[in-house]
Amino acid sequence: MPRQIVRKKLPLVAIVGRPNVGKSTMFNRLTGSRKAVVHEKPGMTRDLNYLEAEWEGKSFILIDTGGYELETENEIYRQMREQTLIAVDQADVIIFLTNLNEPNNAVDDEVMRRLRRSGKPVVLAINKADSKARREEAIAEFAGYGSKYMVGVSALHGNGTGDLLDMVVELLPDMSDDDEEQDLRIRLAVVGRPNVGKSTLVNKILGYERSIASDIPGTTRDAVDTTFERNEQRYTIIDTAGIRRRGKIEKGPEKLSALASRMSMQQCDVALLLVDAIDGITEQDAHVAGFAVDAGCAVIIVVNKWDAVEKTHRSVDEFTRDLKDEWGFLKDAPVLFISALTGQRVEKLFDLIAQVFSEYTREIGTSELNVWLAQATTYLSPPVRSGRQLKIKYVTQTGNRPPSFTFFVNDPDLVHFSYERFLLNQLRKKFGFTGVPVRFRYRQKSEDAPRKGRPYQR
Ligand code: GDP
Ligand code: GDP
Repeated sequence: MPRQIVRKKLPLVAIVGRPNVGKSTMFNRLTGSRKAVVHEKPGMTRDLNYLEAEWEGKSFILIDTGGYELETENEIYRQMREQTLIAVDQADVIIFLTNLNEPNNAVDDEVMRRLRRSGKPVVLAINKADSKARREEAIAEFAGYGSKYMVGVSALHGNGTGDLLDMVVELLPDMSDDDEEQDLRIRLAVVGRPNVGKSTLVNKILGYERSIASDIPGTTRDAVDTTFERNEQRYTIIDTAGIRRRGKIEKGPEKLSALASRMSMQQCDVALLLVDAIDGITEQDAHVAGFAVDAGCAVIIVVNKWDAVEKTHRSVDEFTRDLKDEWGFLKDAPVLFISALTGQRVEKLFDLIAQVFSEYTREIGTSELNVWLAQATTYLSPPVRSGRQLKIKYVTQTGNRPPSFTFFVNDPDLVHFSYERFLLNQLRKKFGFTGVPVRFRYRQKSEDAPRKGRPYQR
């Protein structure tokens, strides 16, 4: 039996709150040391609403669900409701941020009610409590919410944020808890902008129209996750469109739909990234595609509504070429043309999923890896910087889902981007990993120098 070296998905912590309560200030505060923990990838747009954070040695993904321009009171109500739903459906812990200067707010009351009903772990953070006295005042002022976890904070000055993080970390689920059966399951996410056919595909896959849940959104992820079996393989499908289908979210809000897609990709192994064959590839598709890469999941590009396109014998090639031109960062991802409506090639989709998943979970033995490393470094010597040469002592696979490798080196700072790319290409040439992201990490291996590390790189 090979070792199980599954990379656990990081838990998600969502910040929910009305406009102007200080969500983005808080977000920046909590991820203030982000240079140490964030992995930046060349070519990716930096998105400041979504970052990896760490506290007390526990890592999680922090998401600011806000950032919408809202004009009217009505819109605020509607968007808060949707934000809350998405957070409840998909986050592991919710930070509900409110403002001490605006107590007794009707929107807050409603959000709090919904959160309480959901049973999700919630930390109530009362912001703009800029002094110790104000922090105490905050607790008294909001005591009526009956929240077990509540704290007065100042996002602006940082007071109370340590307490806030302590609570968040306490409430995080233990992600190492997954049993073996979970590990064998393929987690799929169906993602894409509104109207590309996500619901239609999910329904086709599941083979029936799922019943519309009556009112209260589910209390756990299971609300959006459906597990099914097909040819003796178990799958869990994370269905963001399901939130809407259950009548909770109106069609349209692009950003919210992207948010939901993004959160689901954080949890999946394989993302089925749907694009619309009729509309072609749009900017919004590219956004979702970028998120998939960030999330480290494997991607299959699914061109849907192929039934509705006037085709010539070259249509498939042309569409594929356009896709690859636009999305260089997904150039190895398989592309499949389907019709969710008629079911055309949906069977074939499962062959591809199996293929991609087996690459995603592959494990290479250490000795085999080091034979490869010796060949690669002979072919092109590691770079020299300021008179010092990078020395790679050995490499070992330290994770899968996605496949991750740790190189033990004399000094991680000597790893140049272009050499990393060379190694990555060589690794793919030798071992494949076609269409799945691969992560490299470097650690110092030396007797006398202090240890240095570098965060994951793609
Ligand atoms: P968002 O719309 O919820 O993301 O809110 P912002 O983070 O943009 O903050 C709205 C306003 O509140 C800005 O002017 C912030 O400077 C201010 N603000 C945020 N946090 C605090 C705080 O802890 N204390 C005070 N006094 N002002 C704050
Ligand atoms: P979602 O917003 O991504 O969940 O998209 P829906 O599943 O609600 O589909 C949006 C619209 O596209 C609906 O009118 C569907 O009937 C239509 N649609 C979905 N899949 C196909 C397809 O394969 N072919 C055609 N012609 N229409 C489709």
